[in-house]
Amino acid sequence: MNITSFNPPVRTLMGPGPSDVHPRVTGAMARPCIGHLDPAFVGMMDEVKTMLQYAFQTKNQLTIPVSAPGSAGMEATFQNLLEHGDKAIVCQNGVFGGRMKEVVERCGAIAVMVEDDWGKPVDPQKVEEAFKANPDAKLLAFVHAETSTGARSDAQTLSKIAHDNDALVLIDAVTSLGGSELKVDEWEIDAIYSGSQKCLSCTPGISPVSFSQRAIDVITSRKTKVQSWFLDTNLVMGYWGPNAKRAYHHTAPVNSLYALHESLVMLQDEGLENSWARHTNNHLALRAGIEAMGLSFIVDEEYRLPQLNSVTIPDGIDEAAVRSILLNEFNLEIGAGLGALAGKVWRIGLMGHSSRAENILLCLGALDVVLTDMGAGINSGAALPAAQATMK
Ligand SMILES: *Cc1c(COP(=O)(O)O)cnc(C)c1O
Repeated sequence: MNITSFNPPVRTLMGPGPSDVHPRVTGAMARPCIGHLDPAFVGMMDEVKTMLQYAFQTKNQLTIPVSAPGSAGMEATFQNLLEHGDKAIVCQNGVFGGRMKEVVERCGAIAVMVEDDWGKPVDPQKVEEAFKANPDAKLLAFVHAETSTGARSDAQTLSKIAHDNDALVLIDAVTSLGGSELKVDEWEIDAIYSGSQKCLSCTPGISPVSFSQRAIDVITSRKTKVQSWFLDTNLVMGYWGPNAKRAYHHTAPVNSLYALHESLVMLQDEGLENSWARHTNNHLALRAGIEAMGLSFIVDEEYRLPQLNSVTIPDGIDEAAVRSILLNEFNLEIGAGLGALAGKVWRIGLMGHSSRAENILLCLGALDVVLTDMGAGINSGAALPAAQATMK
């Protein structure tokens, strides 16, 4: 064996995540590891919770980072709220609603599906109808920002429908947190999970979650134990809880939490609204370039996510070949289409630290050169000036 240190190439990450990690975040991660029960670490944990409350716009006490990626946040929210035989209305308009169904069923609960086309938001009318047909549903679950398509659903309206039907509301905010307007308390969201690696400019592997008092009441009056020992909030709170003795539950990913802490300090310094506005403005610059080139977006502007752009592929172009040239010659990663959109779109992410002018110019310039070279029939040379014009 002659294996030496791993030195990854330096890439620009403009896919569906992970996105570019800010150097301040990787710098924080390289600081010395200390014990996860060290008083210095415990003080930092409190700051992480406070800053997560700001990011989620909530006063929820139970607002903590789960020590695992976004998918673990998904498991944590469903598993704590659902018991065997419970019924959940699950909306699917892309990949992640399908995963929710899987998780619900693995909790021994029943998933009533509300389906919408890929690229469209969840239709509130269909959700109303699902509650009429299933008045006993315990919760409504949907994806706020569907990363597989780039569509945003109206969380506030959907949440109101759930509460009018005495149900809890659980949302996936993995791609929305930090990138799009999100107001947990004002919108009365009961359970929410996110991820560190999308719009927070942080490394992958941490899932911020938050539970409302209504959700906590449901959790503490469960008839059965939460199926997962690791994700049982009753136990996790012994370590993370407001009045906890900070008892050992599991070893926190110490350095990853330094990273999350730094990314949240950056979000606080920028200001949440400013971060949302930056994501929007950079989307507008990318849009100007993409449209000038002659390509288009598959999601209507009205509910299009600024941080995840599903862009059409010119006729006759091998989309995988384009992505591979971008990666190998430009060190630039963009995403492929998934599921129903496989082979039909590229997904260009403008998330967190990736949402920057220079990334947009690199991506448009690279696409321009590569597509022109392939004879794709685009308006060569038009993208960069169009994007730049919006940045003045
Ligand atoms: C990325 C993503 C997830 C999964 O997060 P992981 O960190 O990959 O586990 C879940 N939901 C949405 C909408 C996502 O974009």
